[in-house]
Amino acid sequence: MIVVMRPGASEEDVARVSERLVALGFGVHLSRGTERTVIGAIGDKTVLNGVDLEVMEGVERVVPIRQPFKLVSREFHPESTVVDVGGVPVGGPEVVVIAGPCSVEGRDQLLATARACQASGARILRGGAYKPRTSPYDFRGMGEEGLRLLAEAREVTGLPVVTEVMRPDNVELVARYADCFQIGARNMQNFELLREVGATRRPVLLKRGSGCTIQEWLMAAEYVLAGGNRQVILCERGIRAIDSQFTRYTLDLNAVPVAKELSHLPVIVDPSHGTGRANLVAPMSRAAIAAGADGLIVEVHPNPAEALSDGAQTLHCEAFGRLMDEVRAVAVAVGRQWPRVPAALRA
Ligand code: PEP
Ligand code: MN
Repeated sequence: MIVVMRPGASEEDVARVSERLVALGFGVHLSRGTERTVIGAIGDKTVLNGVDLEVMEGVERVVPIRQPFKLVSREFHPESTVVDVGGVPVGGPEVVVIAGPCSVEGRDQLLATARACQASGARILRGGAYKPRTSPYDFRGMGEEGLRLLAEAREVTGLPVVTEVMRPDNVELVARYADCFQIGARNMQNFELLREVGATRRPVLLKRGSGCTIQEWLMAAEYVLAGGNRQVILCERGIRAIDSQFTRYTLDLNAVPVAKELSHLPVIVDPSHGTGRANLVAPMSRAAIAAGADGLIVEVHPNPAEALSDGAQTLHCEAFGRLMDEVRAVAVAVGRQWPRVPAALRA
C-alpha cells in the first residue's frame, strides 16, 4: 500500500508514519514528489487490522497497490522516473538513442562505430563483451578486454556505455567499466543476477524475456527496485509469436503504452532484435517513438556483413544516420525533444 502525505506534511510527520510502519514489520520506501511525499509500505497488510494510519498527523490517505509489482508501479510513484546513465537522462523529455555493435570485436570496429553513432545523435554506446549465444560454437564475446575497449571508447567520445552482464559473480567486474548494466532477454528471470544488480546503484537496462509476459517483466524490475536500486530502464525487444519466417521476433509495441501506464520507469525499444532484419529497423523505430517509447537501442556496425553476431539485423553507420533523421521527425511530431549534435562532432 502507499501512504499519501498531505502537501504540507512536515518531516516529523513523515518520520512518525515511517517509524510506525517499520514497527509493524513493513519495508518502507519514500518517494518525494514536487508536491507531496508518498510512503510505500511493502509487507503483510493483515497486521494493520484495527490500525488506522489515516488518523495520523500529516496523512491524507492510505491506498492499496493492487498490482503484484509495487515499487515499479505508477500507483506507488505517479511521476515518471528519469534514469541517469553517466549524465544522460533517460525517461525525460528528450528521446535517447543507444547505439553500437552487437558485440565488441576490436578497437577499430568499436571506435569507428561509436564516432559514427555519436555524429548522428546517439547519446549512449552499446556493445556486448559477454554474449549469450544460442549455439556454444558461436562467438561469445571478448570478455574483459571488450570491457576495456568500451571504457576506452567512452574516454575518447564521452558517450556513456551500456553492456550486458550475464552472471551474478561478474557484476562487480562489469561495474568497473560500464555506466549501465544490460540484463539480456535470456536472463530476465535470473533472480540471483537481478538481486546482485539491485544491490548496486548503477542503472540497469532490463530487456523483456522473449517468452515473458508484461507482468513477469515488471516483476523482474521489482527485484531490482526491492534491492534498493531504482535506476531501471525497461526495454521491449520482441517476443516469440507465430511468425518467425519473415521476422526473428514479434516486436510487441503494445507493451510500450502498457508499461508506461503501469509503471513510472522509462521504456525503450530494441527494433534490432525485435525484428531481426536491418530493413525493418527504421520503420519500427519510428513506430516505437510514435507509441511513446523514451528511446531506442539499435545495433550498428561499419560492415554488418562481417559482424561476428547479429549481422542480419545490424545497420551500416550511414543507414543509422538516415534512421536518426527519420526518428527525429517523429519525435518532434509527438512533442519530444531531440539532442543537438555539436558541429565539431557531426560527420
Ligand atoms: C543484445 O543486445 O545483443 C542481446 C543479446 O539482446 P537480447 O538479450 O535482447 O537478445
Ligand atoms: Mn545482438
